Amino acid sequence: MIRLQHISKIYESGGQQTAALREINLHIKPGDIFGIIGHSGAGKSTLIRHINLLERPTTGQVVVDGVDMTALSYRKLQEERRSIGMIFQHFNLLSSLTVKENIAFPLRLAKLPQDKVQRRVKELLGLVGLESHADSYPSQLSGGQKQRVGIARALATEPKVLLCDEATSALDPQTTQSILSLLLAINRRLNITIVLITHEMQVIRSICDRVAVLDGGVIVEEGAVADVFLKP
Ligand code: ADP
Ligand code: ADP
Repeated sequence: MIRLQHISKIYESGGQQTAALREINLHIKPGDIFGIIGHSGAGKSTLIRHINLLERPTTGQVVVDGVDMTALSYRKLQEERRSIGMIFQHFNLLSSLTVKENIAFPLRLAKLPQDKVQRRVKELLGLVGLESHADSYPSQLSGGQKQRVGIARALATEPKVLLCDEATSALDPQTTQSILSLLLAINRRLNITIVLITHEMQVIRSICDRVAVLDGGVIVEEGAVADVFLKP
């Protein structure tokens, strides 16, 4: 489903070079919930942003569902990105738009006809349990509700992959569990491959099938969660 091949990323700023990723090789299978864990500065955010090419690798290839993302024209890349949804730690909702309008946003960009947008938004509101908040603004919602909007928006274009960038890090433990349960249900019911980054072991233990441990831009361990974390 997702193959990262020999990915290296060097940031250059103010005459300084930072090697954020070094020779990353990763294969994520369809239907998996794949976790990437590591300390702050390990390169997690840089790594996940390579999957939808929000960051471009200095060297190496990113292949998603057979498509070499690194070789696409800008227009083709925009199209392919619809099959990769993303959610964020701070939700990234548009504060001047209602819940309904936030969810519809990617469908309008994709030029879906109005009647289909409405039908799809209704479906998505049901999926994340926010029917009664369709006309609320983000500022009127709790953190967990905001993330549900983020999830609905990310799923609007029926992606095959969902990327989660510290999606529960701003939430309390109870809300974290409810969002993780929703992600698990989405993975199992809609068969969407999920890649998440986190610094919290609990997130990995509760829903991931496989995990990679990132340290200093290098994958130091990778495997089934039980094998990686229950070693003597
Ligand atoms: P993590 O998500 O694990 O905290 P990051 O991917 O954010 O790690 O960062 C990895 C390394 O790359 C860090 O040393 C960070 O300072 C550096 N870095 C990240 N983004 C940039 C950038 N835009 N410019 C320069 N250095 C960056
Ligand atoms: P039809 O009923 O004619 O088969 P579809 O509902 O399958 O039409 O889709 C019509 C167009 O809208 C297609 O180009 C399809 O790719 C696009 N489309 C359908 N559903 C979505 C969606 N959830 N997000 C973005 N585009 C969509």
